[in-house]
Amino acid sequence: MTLTRQAETSLVDEKICAVDVLIIGGGIHGAGCAQALASRGYSTILIESGQIGNGTSSRSSKLIHGGLRYIETGQFSLVRKSLRERATLEKIAPDLIHSRQFLLPIYRHNRLKHWQLVLALCIYSLLGGLRKNTRFKRLSKTEQNNLTGLKKDDLIAVYQYWDAQTNDLALTRAVIHSAKQYGCQVFEQTTFIKASRLTNKTVHVEARQSQQAVNIDCQIVINAAGPWVENVQAQIDFAQPGPGIDLVQGTHLEYDQAISDDIFYLESPDDHRPVFIIPWQGGTLIGTTEVQHQDNPANSQPTESEIHYLKKVLFHYFPTYQGQFIQAWSGLRVLPKGPQNTSLRRFAKQARETILHVDNNYSPQVISIFGGKLTTYRATAKSVADLAEKHLGRAKNLADTSIIPLQSPQK
Ligand SMILES: Cc1cc2nc3c(=O)[nH]c(=O)nc-3n(C[C@H](O)[C@H](O)[C@H](O)COP(=O)(O)OP(=O)(O)OC[C@H]3O[C@@H](n4cnc5c(N)ncnc54)[C@H](O)[C@@H]3O)c2cc1C
Repeated sequence: MTLTRQAETSLVDEKICAVDVLIIGGGIHGAGCAQALASRGYSTILIESGQIGNGTSSRSSKLIHGGLRYIETGQFSLVRKSLRERATLEKIAPDLIHSRQFLLPIYRHNRLKHWQLVLALCIYSLLGGLRKNTRFKRLSKTEQNNLTGLKKDDLIAVYQYWDAQTNDLALTRAVIHSAKQYGCQVFEQTTFIKASRLTNKTVHVEARQSQQAVNIDCQIVINAAGPWVENVQAQIDFAQPGPGIDLVQGTHLEYDQAISDDIFYLESPDDHRPVFIIPWQGGTLIGTTEVQHQDNPANSQPTESEIHYLKKVLFHYFPTYQGQFIQAWSGLRVLPKGPQNTSLRRFAKQARETILHVDNNYSPQVISIFGGKLTTYRATAKSVADLAEKHLGRAKNLADTSIIPLQSPQK
């Protein structure tokens, strides 16, 4: 397979450019699709209205994980797939994906009982193929007592299992870097405006770069606009109506002092939702929340009540913590529309699957990505590329992104 590096000229300089695939959105999904398609030998352009990774893909909890919490909602295939992807990413991006111990303290007041959590850990381990880093253990009394700062009242047991952590923005940039090495042209500050079908081989796309109109002809459009997926979908004149979605805001707090090198998986004393306490760049992250967002995605902001909620969790479990609050930030999950009830844990129960929505199953000209996880981006991108191949014809290269190494661009 040959690697080509193409210089990025301004799109404005070209009257109209023609390409196999246009990808809208430079988050982890757009990056993954760009890499998957470019490495198969298709000509690709990715446009991003802001900067690479500055949407949801830099506002996540930064966990590369199977998602222990999804065992409770019976999403076993999602967990199995995520654990498989975790193993793949650990192999291809060892500088970016770091195995971490997760500590799960069980208190008398927990909503989930001791036996339920142990059962969930057993299933998690089974779904991970019982590999070494999917096993768990109960900490001894001495190990438990050595967990500095953790509230010990009503503590029944602490379990330790393995998952992984990344820098989501660095991972997204690394995937973009790889896509560029395979010839993808990437344009930041370039906003998709609208698309229309000219023929069953050509889609015409209008975009704006530096306040100037840009025209691109392509065979397929990939809509990887994350929380803006419906806005983009609405501007593609041949797209079919997408599945209903909820935008669900999640906020994180950042503190300046580390609590631990391990990740704590805790239950909020208010509504019993899971909340993580995560080591991050020498300090600590606490997250996250689940609040419905009905405004423009660009207006997602942490609310006072989310900040209060997360601070309460932190000081409930680490009452003597001395760290200083630095900042709070939020991102939006795209979830398939759930039942309209007012239960406090409504979003915690909602399915997390990724939906690939097409205009035509046999020969799609637009593929829209609804939802998804950072962890499973590569598998999602592979499915998108397989779908795109139906329209584009057999790929020139038999590229396999599960063996393409990823490195931070500065290396
Ligand atoms: C609070 C929170 C915590 C999470 N934690 C985890 C976790 O720990 N582990 C995990 O696996 N997953 C996690 N996720 C999920 C994961 O972060 C997302 O699934 C993933 O980042 C979504 O990536 P994306 O590329 O679809 O969207 P985004 O990263 O939002 O990218 C979409 C991009 O499209 C661009 N765009 C929009 N409109 C246009 C336009 N008209 N023209 C050009 N560009 C446009 C935007 O600027 C944006 O950069 C979390 C999500 C949230 C919200």
